[in-house]
Amino acid sequence: MRFFITLLFLATISSSFSQQIYKRTLKLMGSRFDITVVEKDKTTANQYINIAVEEIQRIEKLISSWDKNSQTSLINDNAGIKPVKVDAELFDLIFRAIQISKLTDGAFDISYASMDRIWKFDNSMKEMPSEEEIKASVARVGYSYIILDKKKSTVFLTQKGMKIGFGAIGKGYAADKAKNLLISKGVKAGIINASGDMNTWGKQPDGSEWKVAITNPLNKNNAFALLPVVEKAVVTSGNYEKYVILDGKRYSHIIDPRTGYPSTGIVSATVFAPKAELADALATSVFVMGIETGLNRINQLKGIECIIIDDQGNIHTSDHIKIDNK
Ligand code: ADP
Ligand code: MG
Repeated sequence: MRFFITLLFLATISSSFSQQIYKRTLKLMGSRFDITVVEKDKTTANQYINIAVEEIQRIEKLISSWDKNSQTSLINDNAGIKPVKVDAELFDLIFRAIQISKLTDGAFDISYASMDRIWKFDNSMKEMPSEEEIKASVARVGYSYIILDKKKSTVFLTQKGMKIGFGAIGKGYAADKAKNLLISKGVKAGIINASGDMNTWGKQPDGSEWKVAITNPLNKNNAFALLPVVEKAVVTSGNYEKYVILDGKRYSHIIDPRTGYPSTGIVSATVFAPKAELADALATSVFVMGIETGLNRINQLKGIECIIIDDQGNIHTSDHIKIDNK
């Protein structure tokens, strides 16, 4: 009898402690975030999700160029005037962004940002900007005009009117930070999905791996590949949400910092990498580099893979990606 009771007790414990998936969807950094944790009960899950939300809001405050009081705005306001002292965290993020600029021959460049005076992707643009306007504007773009002083922890934009922006790397960075914070608090598994910037750790409650569905944007309802993401990040940049059509041609919100013109030809780029920050930046870079150069560069980087869909609906993959189309 006693044996029986003990067994029953154990069974109750194991069912109330069994792990479940808890997810919250909310708007952060101007985008949709889905935060998922695997936990034993709703209260605990909610506490952890709150921690992730606070972390993402903290980062947004630091890197937002919309927030007039952020350190990033202070750097931009002082372009061509003086260096600005910033937190080590922001300094390091800018340092890594410049490294990625070097890695991509300038295709990725956080100083693209002043181009937002010329190109607007909110439906307000009715005609092509003139060549002169673009030329004048792109003269203020260039990562070599960002001067870092590690000792003083200062950032100086040397050109007047210059701006930096983290639109192509910030969500990935926030996803990495939120994930690492939750891991450090003991959360065994989860997903941070920042509008397509996905970062996973651990496994699903049934022991299976997290999987990501890659969809063809030219046929939205049709996921064409289901790929496992094990302890890594996968990021998709697409021009099917933010773009402008001028003279019948579709221009993406990703600008080539070297010419000042939006990139064309690619509708979606998905990058797999150990960190969301790098995946995010590289997905944007692939748009600018184009299919051939983009794939070449990705193939040179260990542990990084890429899937590109061009504007004709063709799929191009890096060397080690295998897509099972069935
Ligand atoms: P999304 O945020 O839509 O997923 P991305 O991660 O590709 O897309 O980032 C695109 C954003 O990055 C643009 O909206 C803009 O803010 C910024 N950006 C555009 N061109 C560049 C570039 N060449 N290098 C760095 N950032 C860029
Ligand atoms: Mg990006």
